[in-house]
Amino acid sequence: MKKIAVVGAGIIGSCTAWSLLKRGYQVELFDKDAPMAHTSQSSSKLLHGGLRYLETGQFKLVHKALQARQFWLEQAPHLCHQLELLFPIYQGIGRPRWQIGTATKLYDVLAIGSGFPKSRWLSASETLLRNPNLSSQNLLGAYSFYDAQMDDYQLGLWVIEQIQNLGGMIHTKRPVKDLSQLPNFDAIVNATGPWVMHLRQQQAAKLAIEMDWVRGSHILVDKPLNQALMLPIPNEKRIFFVLPYHGQTMIGTTEIRQNQPESEPASDKEIAYLLESYNYYHQQQLTTQDVCKTFAGVRPLLKDAINPSNSTREWAFETVGNVLHVYGGKWTTAQIQGEMACEELLKCLN
Ligand SMILES: Cc1cc2nc3c(=O)[nH]c(=O)nc-3n(C[C@H](O)[C@H](O)[C@H](O)COP(=O)(O)OP(=O)(O)OC[C@H]3O[C@@H](n4cnc5c(N)ncnc54)[C@H](O)[C@@H]3O)c2cc1C
Repeated sequence: MKKIAVVGAGIIGSCTAWSLLKRGYQVELFDKDAPMAHTSQSSSKLLHGGLRYLETGQFKLVHKALQARQFWLEQAPHLCHQLELLFPIYQGIGRPRWQIGTATKLYDVLAIGSGFPKSRWLSASETLLRNPNLSSQNLLGAYSFYDAQMDDYQLGLWVIEQIQNLGGMIHTKRPVKDLSQLPNFDAIVNATGPWVMHLRQQQAAKLAIEMDWVRGSHILVDKPLNQALMLPIPNEKRIFFVLPYHGQTMIGTTEIRQNQPESEPASDKEIAYLLESYNYYHQQQLTTQDVCKTFAGVRPLLKDAINPSNSTREWAFETVGNVLHVYGGKWTTAQIQGEMACEELLKCLN
């Protein structure tokens, strides 16, 4: 039986290991820290198509991700659920109403067959009934649309459980500093997310792919919230989320380019930016005193855009010798990416 080492027990490496085990391979998963210790527990907790990626023409990715949401809901309904989000429209702020309306309709079309309710328009009074704390000045109404929300850490650990049930071995606190540390394996998968280049650079072949490290921070406020929101950052093209999460309100995220894969904690500037964005749309204002927790993670993105907001959330594979390097991706589509990584690996094993 072929023996495969998967390096990196974030959601991408874990889904790849899970796929390989389902196909009957012997798999060992290595992590320098612990499963889901880094980016995979620092996401916005959304299993989503990514409404905003429609603007950059990533239709294929959005379609894949919209369909992928259902996989997680079916497999682990105790760790994720459908979530209705409102995109409030204010006169003169952000994109015009028609543009958001077109995007939500397109989202519905790409989601056909995924079992999610369709989007619809809510009047200003209906919107305020859902969230009386929203500012009413210049509010035209809101588009309601559906995605799903997960507990990313617990859902990731659930995948680890599936790996163990299929006989996969998990080595925590086992950094793979050098590929020569794994001589007894038929193939190696480098799924180290933000650290992918460390192992790739040990191979002589010319680098084909460049990565971008983009930190995203969130803040948590100890106040319950009934209605999830997606809102434009005032005077920017970016959007941010205000989400109910485990009885609190989660606000995020930021996009800060870093020159290293390790995450830094949310900076005071990021916290102020998120509070300011929230306060712009809400009657009851928040201050730094209200922030009970922050968390940050680094997105391993394929370098393809000047502005990280426009970077693709697609993924890429590269095989060098018996090593498959996995670049990019997103949580929602990790299971599909894991299956595709297997297909790629089979090509080099045969
Ligand atoms: C702020 C933010 C918000 C996001 N929101 C969403 C969202 O709402 N929905 C969504 O679908 N996606 C979201 N994403 C994207 C998603 O979280 C990531 O694409 C995904 O978690 C990346 O997983 P990964 O396994 O590649 O990386 P990681 O989770 O970082 O895993 C890599 C693992 O490799 C290990 N490792 C590294 N080097 C070595 C080594 N040499 N030896 C052994 N182990 C090693 C690390 O310890 C780590 O555990 C978000 C990302 C960020 C940063």
